[in-house]
Amino acid sequence: MYAASKAFFYALSRSGSLKRLASRYGMANEDSFARRFIAGETIEEAIGCARKLQARGMLLTLDYLGESVRTVEEATTATREYLRLIDVIVASGIERNVSLKLTQLGIDIDRATVVDNLRRILGPAHTHDFFVRIDMEESAYTEVTLEVFETLWQQGYHHVGVALQAYLYRTEKDVQRMNELGARVRLVKGAYKEPPAVAHQKKADVDAAFIRLMRLLLDGGVYPAIATHDPAMLDATTAYAKERGVTPDRYEFQMLFGIRRDLQASLVAQGYRMRIYIPFGQQWFPYFMRRLGERPANVAFVLKSLVRER
Ligand SMILES: Cc1cc2nc3c(=O)[nH]c(=O)nc-3n(C[C@H](O)[C@H](O)[C@H](O)COP(=O)(O)OP(=O)(O)OC[C@H]3O[C@@H](n4cnc5c(N)ncnc54)[C@H](O)[C@@H]3O)c2cc1C
Repeated sequence: MYAASKAFFYALSRSGSLKRLASRYGMANEDSFARRFIAGETIEEAIGCARKLQARGMLLTLDYLGESVRTVEEATTATREYLRLIDVIVASGIERNVSLKLTQLGIDIDRATVVDNLRRILGPAHTHDFFVRIDMEESAYTEVTLEVFETLWQQGYHHVGVALQAYLYRTEKDVQRMNELGARVRLVKGAYKEPPAVAHQKKADVDAAFIRLMRLLLDGGVYPAIATHDPAMLDATTAYAKERGVTPDRYEFQMLFGIRRDLQASLVAQGYRMRIYIPFGQQWFPYFMRRLGERPANVAFVLKSLVRER
């Protein structure tokens, strides 16, 4: 069921007519269904959400949605959008932290293009004291993403980290690889449809891997981010941190905008660091469909608001 649900929503996410329908209704009003998970279509809307979350004691990272560009021009446009985002964040005074995807910056074109575009972002990001997180995408991109990351790391860009996915069998080695480098890792369960040849399919196996990797990161990593909404994973993390004497300033939790807001607030109240991943932009449909695939109950919520709006 766990893997099947992701596969079903992955297939739907490629439907052009569904995309058109969703785009028409999803963000139209203040209470449209996609707004539960997406901060808005403009940078200004995202900054507005960020300010509210900061006022509640949360940390944040802004993600300019967009993936899978196929041409150099599209990759250049996405790079420029990130450069503008950096400027607007600096002017706004909110925390300086962004997340991005290498398929946005041209990884499907060639390695030189993506390295070049990422460097164009990391330069000003460094000047303005930003942290940049590289999201992890489908398993076909794992190795090349890490290699691009390492190339820039070796060129002296250390205000950047990667996400690693617990569902992939290879991730234990990747955690060790990043720990040895001294790079910051965001640990996630993994959001894409992956075959049994490369990834665990059962929730119990993914959870067990997540706990093993969380421990490796708390023991030997640099300021790891434990990104999950799963209470069992959160409890396992706080318990292990206490057992090993890892104080709450040496790691952080991360959650997605709009998901388990109750847990977000309660962890902050308990004195833990909680970073909210704030996605925004016009290309929100694939991100939105991944959130539905994680929790099919969200579909009922979407359908109800669609009926209301029509
Ligand atoms: C900050 C952050 C960054 C991420 N970056 C990446 C990345 O770079 N690459 C990647 O592959 N994945 C990424 N993910 C997604 C991640 O891989 C999982 O798909 C997602 O977090 C759901 O897994 P979970 O750990 O919350 O546990 P699950 O076992 O899926 O869920 C646990 C509980 O959380 C709640 N929940 C989870 N998802 C939803 C939802 N969509 N709607 C409502 N409630 C929900 C439910 O209460 C559920 O019972 C990221 C997640 C976070 C929090």
